[in-house]
Amino acid sequence: TGSLTVGELAKKLGKEPSEIIKKLLFLGIMATINQEIELEAIQLIAEEYGVKVEEKIEIDEDQFELIEDHDDPADLTVRPPVVTIMGHVDHGKTTLLDAIRKSKIVAGEAGGITQHIGAYQVVINDKKITFLDTPGHAAFTSMRARGAKVTDITILVVAADDGMMPQTIEAINHAKAANVPIIVAVNKMDKPEANPDRVKQQLAEHGLLPEEWGGDTIYVPVSALKQEGLDELLEMILLVAEVQELKANPNRLAKGTIIESQLDKGRGAVATVLVQNGTLRVGDPIVAGATYGKVRAMVNDRGKRIKEAGPSTPVEITGLNEVPHAGDPFVVFEEERKARVIGEKRALKLRQSELNATSKVTLDDLYKQI
Ligand code: GDP
Ligand code: MG
Repeated sequence: TGSLTVGELAKKLGKEPSEIIKKLLFLGIMATINQEIELEAIQLIAEEYGVKVEEKIEIDEDQFELIEDHDDPADLTVRPPVVTIMGHVDHGKTTLLDAIRKSKIVAGEAGGITQHIGAYQVVINDKKITFLDTPGHAAFTSMRARGAKVTDITILVVAADDGMMPQTIEAINHAKAANVPIIVAVNKMDKPEANPDRVKQQLAEHGLLPEEWGGDTIYVPVSALKQEGLDELLEMILLVAEVQELKANPNRLAKGTIIESQLDKGRGAVATVLVQNGTLRVGDPIVAGATYGKVRAMVNDRGKRIKEAGPSTPVEITGLNEVPHAGDPFVVFEEERKARVIGEKRALKLRQSELNATSKVTLDDLYKQI
């Protein structure tokens, strides 16, 4: 980026290479015709000929969207699994998420205030698990539609009294399409009508054959209400995560996905982001969707201000110019101006596509009237 050989520069300026080499010598740079010279030197030389040189910032947009990375294997370290909870309405998703959060967070910190940022982490056997607390299916599907793969494991909650329901099947299909392993939490085991075997039978017909029946799906009986079976469920999550060998490179600039976002009166755009690779730091120039900025402050799921967040960490950030969308990818750049250029380019693109969409609607409306 931004460098030329002496020969190329001479050609661009319409001068003899020997003349450029002489000028470079005056600047204290010994160069041959095929040598690349730095942008700064190019600018100085060009100025002498009355030419102003600006670095063109070119970044491959496709690269921006890429979630897979080519990190040096030596840099890769184990990262916590990212877990989402799915299931039919009223089968206990919210109760289960709250029960896990309560049992693992508040217990260890008397009077500790947990912050609802749309995701949280728990620690079990010295290992972390990240739970996404996003409003169920909608977030999951919209994120997937945007190509963001954020989930490593899905917990399918099925009420033991109710059994399989339409949204249970929907959840199975989503998880399968995204190639995300499923652990079944058979919930409401405290109820007298609970019938876990019926749940297993029903789900087995949808490809989730229980381990104890010779299949490879883990079923864990739980009661979210009575907080029973939670440790077993968490241990199974860690087991499945271990098999997946989830890894990331903390020694690079962060990238990840916007989980939630909102406009706060005092703090401006506030976004919960999931760091999927690299380490996010306060002060980092960042592009998220079609907006950009500089990370001003970071708060973790316990309401604590932090300075950096590694892979699989959910964190609430401020400092973006505008509110990004849930599911938007984010990327950190070394230089603030790069983040700005990309952010502005994307905002422009977005406005154009919105403009196109609106004019289309108007046309449709016209046709409808006819
Ligand atoms: P969601 O729609 O899947 O988020 O379900 P909720 O978590 O809101 O739970 C729906 C209802 O089921 C609530 O009244 C809960 O108190 C109740 N519930 C959730 N888990 C259990 C459980 O383990 N046992 C019993 N008896 N009730 C539960
Ligand atoms: Mg709920």
